[in-house]
Amino acid sequence: MKSHARVVVIGGGVVGCSVLYHLTKAGWKDVVLIERDQLTSGSTWHAAGGFHTLNGDPNVAKLQGYTIALYDELEKISGQSCGLHRSGGLMLADTKERMEWLKMAHARARYLGLETGLMDMKEAKKLFPLLEEKYFVGAMLDAADGNLDPSGTTHAYAKSARINGAEIYQKIRVTDLRARSDGGWDVITDHGNIRAEHVVNCGGLWAREVGRMAGIELPVLAMEHMYLVTDDMPEVVDYNKANGRELTHAIDFKAEIYIRQEGKGMLLGTYEKECRPWQPRQTPWDFGTELLQPDLDRIAPSLELGYQHFPAMAKAGIKRVINGPFTFSPDGNPLVGPVQGLKNFWCACAVMAGFSQGGGVGLALSQWMVNGDPGFDVWAMDIARFGEWATRSYTNAKVRENYSRRFSIRFPNEELPAARPQETTSLYDILVAQGAVMGDSWGLETPLWFAPKGVEPKNVVSFHRSNDFPHVKAECLGVRNGVGVTEIANFAKYEFTGPGAESFLSRLMTNRMPKVGRIILTPMLNPKGKLIGDFTIAKAADERFLMWGSSQAQKYHMRWFEKHLPEDGSVKIRRYDMSLVGLSVAGPKSREVLQKLTDEDVSNAAFKFMDHRGMDIANVPAMINRVTYTGDLGYEIWVAPEYQRRLYQEIMAVGKETGIINFGMRALLSLRLEKNFPTWYRELRPIYGPFEAALDRFIDLGKNDFVGREAAAREKEDGGTLRRVSMIVDAADADVLGDEPIWHDGKVVGWVTSGGFAHFVDRSLAQGYVPKDLARANGSFEIEIIGDRRRATIIREPLFDPEAKRMRM
Ligand SMILES: Cc1cc2nc3c(=O)[nH]c(=O)nc-3n(C[C@H](O)[C@H](O)[C@H](O)COP(=O)(O)OP(=O)(O)OC[C@H]3O[C@@H](n4cnc5c(N)ncnc54)[C@H](O)[C@@H]3O)c2cc1C
Repeated sequence: MKSHARVVVIGGGVVGCSVLYHLTKAGWKDVVLIERDQLTSGSTWHAAGGFHTLNGDPNVAKLQGYTIALYDELEKISGQSCGLHRSGGLMLADTKERMEWLKMAHARARYLGLETGLMDMKEAKKLFPLLEEKYFVGAMLDAADGNLDPSGTTHAYAKSARINGAEIYQKIRVTDLRARSDGGWDVITDHGNIRAEHVVNCGGLWAREVGRMAGIELPVLAMEHMYLVTDDMPEVVDYNKANGRELTHAIDFKAEIYIRQEGKGMLLGTYEKECRPWQPRQTPWDFGTELLQPDLDRIAPSLELGYQHFPAMAKAGIKRVINGPFTFSPDGNPLVGPVQGLKNFWCACAVMAGFSQGGGVGLALSQWMVNGDPGFDVWAMDIARFGEWATRSYTNAKVRENYSRRFSIRFPNEELPAARPQETTSLYDILVAQGAVMGDSWGLETPLWFAPKGVEPKNVVSFHRSNDFPHVKAECLGVRNGVGVTEIANFAKYEFTGPGAESFLSRLMTNRMPKVGRIILTPMLNPKGKLIGDFTIAKAADERFLMWGSSQAQKYHMRWFEKHLPEDGSVKIRRYDMSLVGLSVAGPKSREVLQKLTDEDVSNAAFKFMDHRGMDIANVPAMINRVTYTGDLGYEIWVAPEYQRRLYQEIMAVGKETGIINFGMRALLSLRLEKNFPTWYRELRPIYGPFEAALDRFIDLGKNDFVGREAAAREKEDGGTLRRVSMIVDAADADVLGDEPIWHDGKVVGWVTSGGFAHFVDRSLAQGYVPKDLARANGSFEIEIIGDRRRATIIREPLFDPEAKRMRM
């Protein structure tokens, strides 16, 4: 074994081997992989080997498409067969809602370039004659689905990596990791040590334990998973003979099973409700290639339904039952990327679909390590998406919820209950008592909407407009016609102090820093000139800046800030998290409310739009920004948590005369729509440039040099390729949700990023991206909402207050 290496990859499952291969492909040769036992000896060897492209996140779906396309390349390089069966896969809908879900998935596949097709059950039966038509209402075929040989595929990655110069050491266990002062790691093993510049945790079933060696507790948990393989079935043999092809895969959402041909029989796996975590605290190091005890009783409800839906299965004998563990993160997507707070420590864990995602994970991680950027939008897999609230027991509850819902529909207005409430503010009970329907915002309970007296505070889940519609409307009108208050504790908040703070922020941000007492809005770019942040920054004093951003991106942004911090200690960053909480008071009467709570002059002349002040409000020391996301006159008031209750109660007390109302996040998002304001991770993501996103006025190319400036200047010159547009949609009873295709002249030309009903202007609105030339044309567009193409018209100005007078009144 070498004593030095640029990279040590820990773990020789499909993911570790893919990372190793992709590192060599990206040009790094001095890379090694250490495997405790032999390649595949974690969860990989007993996988069912299925693969598919469908994923709730379009960017992950793209990476799955990459993985599946990669297998031919691997076979060619390595000479090792992956045992591919590209049989296609059917998704079987048993209800109207599931069919709507399939229609949306099919629509999304259009702009992702994936080959899917909707069909009735007669056609589906031809592809999969084992099914009983009467239990289903329709189906979707995904041509890219198939299955492979897990071991052959892992070895194909490993051989390809070796051919490219990588080394693989088996039967060696990493027992500890010690951070070095030069930013590298001493990798301690039971066969000697290696000094590495970078370490990658691909520990699979032991990813948690490898994380602990570096001092972190990863939100990952293994679950038991069962599938069975039948004896040869005459129905399968006959089909193969008659058609000269294998049966397609099928997913039966109702029975919560997947089913495919295996040899001359069938393989059937379940995601059962009665699911079971495996080794919830500690995975034993001596767990080898043994299987877990099957428990058919646990999966009996799924089997019974499956046998009804596929009667030939009931007659078939069971050849073997596999029960093996594999790992999940709380939301079911992988944990990939550098870990905030650690140097040169990377993760590629919790990959629950190694044969759909392993290639994409390897590609993204290798590019991240080699080029400093994953090269794609990998937010849905980024390890930074989980905060400190994702503890071991939180993870346990969420992983069980996720596993048991693997084949359930997640509705857009659905809030999942497990491990909640996790974080609450002091207003939680007060707001709930007033009918607040709460949602989870990066671990924090946040009011979504308020049910008036007599209305049950509950979301009726749907893809269509739902029971909250009239109440969100009332909240929007209440704000626009008077004044409303909402809790904004869920925003990210940071403080930058020190003599280097201003030049640090100027170097990272595209806009010029404000003067003391003023606020700016500014995007942040990566070196390729793509959007990686969007912030509100106030200069509170010389050498002190306050900054607000997206709650979900706190760790993602901290990781970026820490990477760029000067080493001379001239800048200090504080992430406030829940040690600073806030309320937003908005609407034309908001000044009246504020003035009643302070003896400071808050008139328009004294406290202007985009001003920042420290002042006492209702006896409470507060920091106030004269800005709100509603696009109306309004204020964001920030206080220490111990003051928030008093502040809220005083605002409500003095606001009574003015008719103050509570409003929630859904009203806030509706109000921003009629102002054409973008949101982070919908309109603003690392796949768009700032001019494409129409953020021109926040990009100051004439100020100091900043990260991404050169690329931004180029984009300004050539205009990029896309343009963010806002559209009025001729919707019926369903608005856009995001990720719908935009049609023009009978072709899909773009996609929706977000939208909904804008209640004050009484229109259904959408935002999305189309090619820049089309954005200029006044052509006719259509947006596909649940299978229906609805007319959409680009609007150049916000429908509410296009001259922005209200914010300045
Ligand atoms: C029953 C079952 C069916 C499945 N079906 C499918 C399917 O159809 N399709 C699909 O895509 N996925 C399926 N999966 C999931 C799939 O197996 C996983 O996604 C995949 O195996 C994850 O690979 P990995 O490399 O992350 O982890 P692992 O395979 O667990 O690999 C981790 C490796 O790291 C090594 N290691 C850990 N710690 C150390 C250390 N300290 N030192 C040295 N080595 C270490 C381990 O020995 C192990 O070999 C299934 C899983 C099961 C259990």
